[in-house]
Amino acid sequence: MMSTTNTNFVRVRFAPSPTGYLHIGGARTVLFNWLVARKAGGAFVLRIEDTDRTRHVEDSVQKILNDLRWLGLDWDEGPETGGGCGPYFQSERLDLYHKYIEQLLKSNRAYYALETPQMLTTMREQAEKAGGSFRYQRPDPLPTIAQAEAARADGASPVVRFKMPDQAITVVDDILGSVTIEPEQFDDLVIQKGDGFPTYHFACVVDDELMQITHVLRGQEHLMNTPKHIAMQEALGFRTPRYGHMPVIFNMSGTKMSKRDKEKAIKKGEPPPEIDVNDFRLAGYLPESIVNFIALLGWNPGDDREQFSLAELTEAFSMDRVGKTNAKFDRDKLRSFNTDWCARVTPERLLAAFTDYLTQVAAVTPTDDPGPDLPIAAAKRVLERSDSAMLTSVLGACAGFHTFPDVLKKAGFLFLDDDAIEFDPKAVKKVLTKNNGAGYAMLNVLQAKFESHENWSAEALEALVKQTCEEKDTKMGAVAQPIRVAVSGGTISPGIGETLALLGQEKTIARVKRCIEKHKATP
Ligand code: GLU
Repeated sequence: MMSTTNTNFVRVRFAPSPTGYLHIGGARTVLFNWLVARKAGGAFVLRIEDTDRTRHVEDSVQKILNDLRWLGLDWDEGPETGGGCGPYFQSERLDLYHKYIEQLLKSNRAYYALETPQMLTTMREQAEKAGGSFRYQRPDPLPTIAQAEAARADGASPVVRFKMPDQAITVVDDILGSVTIEPEQFDDLVIQKGDGFPTYHFACVVDDELMQITHVLRGQEHLMNTPKHIAMQEALGFRTPRYGHMPVIFNMSGTKMSKRDKEKAIKKGEPPPEIDVNDFRLAGYLPESIVNFIALLGWNPGDDREQFSLAELTEAFSMDRVGKTNAKFDRDKLRSFNTDWCARVTPERLLAAFTDYLTQVAAVTPTDDPGPDLPIAAAKRVLERSDSAMLTSVLGACAGFHTFPDVLKKAGFLFLDDDAIEFDPKAVKKVLTKNNGAGYAMLNVLQAKFESHENWSAEALEALVKQTCEEKDTKMGAVAQPIRVAVSGGTISPGIGETLALLGQEKTIARVKRCIEKHKATP
């Protein structure tokens, strides 16, 4: 098993390709690597694998860095931090890759291949027509360097292929055990593309060596890449790091959790599920609960403990408790983790996280694309019309909520203009008009009381409502619900005393009056 203690030489890496936001599975990969590094007092390296220009998405490096920072996962070496093994963008390391390509060409472990993409497509189609799958056949004799140069002079773009050895390769995996892969599974892979850029496989092998990576922890989808990497390490005279391939993350339905799930949901007219880290941020989750939840996707502490902060994880984590079986992403469980975490963190921390949520949502530009229905206007309004003291009280008054949008649903009306309150006809009927307008009668009584009431604290207002119940010999709902409808337009709000205290005397009275007048104006 991989030792994660007593060594100062552990160097792990996360190597994202900048193709968009960080996927939640990628975040799990980062977390496990980060934990291994922190536990061992080693280094966590961030390397940007940006050699595939066709898949490059503008801004995605910044997005990935933001996501990592939000999760609280810092890197010791990498973009913006620097470090002794830089540059950390592969696109800035091309000379290094060329040097090692030359080495392989010279030692006869790699060769130029002259097939054009069209030729390869035809070969693939022919193989499929014949009922098989395409496997590149090494040319015999191999094209010479002179032929490759002549082809290039003619406008062609020869690639460089690595000669895969004709023998089985065993991956010694810290999670899966030994996995042996037969040579028939491989053909000679391209290591330098026609545009002179290295492929992922080659750049990854060179950088894992030059960056002195000791442990490669990545998703199981990379398992079949590892024999290729091991073969190239051997050909280049490099070390082989220790490998661990982590279980794939599945939806509860048994399908692989993928970015495409979002498009699929939209096509069906359903709200897209959160898949990227940023989706969860915009959906109002705390990073604490995301980190806690993803830690348990593949790892278990060996007992029934479930709540872990990052510090507690660093203490408890060990690679030998990472399992082989696929992990299931249980959204209900995540929601309940989030509810618990919101109750667990300090009011200061909750305020900072809520402010971050509001700021992120407010910054989203509404587009015509169908996507999650974000409360952009509400978030902007709350930011403009509140201060830290007010937000802290609102969060306290909404305690028990699952995610931040619940807070906006429950208390967002506090920040509206009085005349922007829209009365829900169902609530009006049920709470105010029913029983010969008993609710309206109650509002008239309360309006007078509110006007003469001096102590506008939550406790005093709660007491006022209770006292009114006693006077009128009625239940709490018969007093509190009409007030709720009058001040919020609906029947959901924090505790009635807290609601009115947060709204203030003037606005409470104005809203109650407006509600009564609207009724009078309705024939
Ligand atoms: N750039 C690769 C990816 O994003 C890295 C895989 C690896 O960790 O080797 O999948």
